Amino acid sequence: MIIKLHKGDITKMSVDTIVNAANSSLLGGGGVDGAIHRAAGPELLVECRKLNGCPTGKAKITNAYNLACKHVIHTVGPIWKGGNSNEANLLKSCYKNSLKLAEAYKLESIVFPNISTGVYGYPKEEAAKIAIETVMTKSLKLKHLKEITFCVFDDTNYEIYQKLLKDII
Ligand code: ADP
Repeated sequence: MIIKLHKGDITKMSVDTIVNAANSSLLGGGGVDGAIHRAAGPELLVECRKLNGCPTGKAKITNAYNLACKHVIHTVGPIWKGGNSNEANLLKSCYKNSLKLAEAYKLESIVFPNISTGVYGYPKEEAAKIAIETVMTKSLKLKHLKEITFCVFDDTNYEIYQKLLKDII
């Protein structure tokens, strides 16, 4: 299993699947969700409309249309409400359910954005710890996935991930 850290735009990544930090309507939004829909083209929204939304912590898969990857896994992160509203478990579920779906589709590579750390306001360091810990734990049981990448977009997340991953290694 290879675990990578990449700084840049997730929409440019040519892997089996990228993960979208979507909202529960799955009908597009701002941030990484908006960027993915813009880069994929309007057909992605047409497919997403048929999915009837997605509950927080769960994940659904679509085609990727004009993106360089093959699939998009849409997962809905929790909105940060101070930490006593099951946010940590829900964020963990996003990573777990996305990996489960990728495995079910026999995909070999997956890229995660920093789910919930944008407009959903999850504290970045806590979110990174959950992301890394969940992926590391789950990765021991994966059969098809060979490469998992954390795609960071802002400098703060980049520094946090660099430090946490270095500490683990
Ligand atoms: P959420 O609603 O889950 O907080 P956001 O899209 O607002 O989702 O932010 C999630 C993370 O995605 C943030 O850390 C943000 O910096 C990052 N992000 C925004 N655009 C992109 C992009 N094009 N590629 C990768 N990450 C991105």
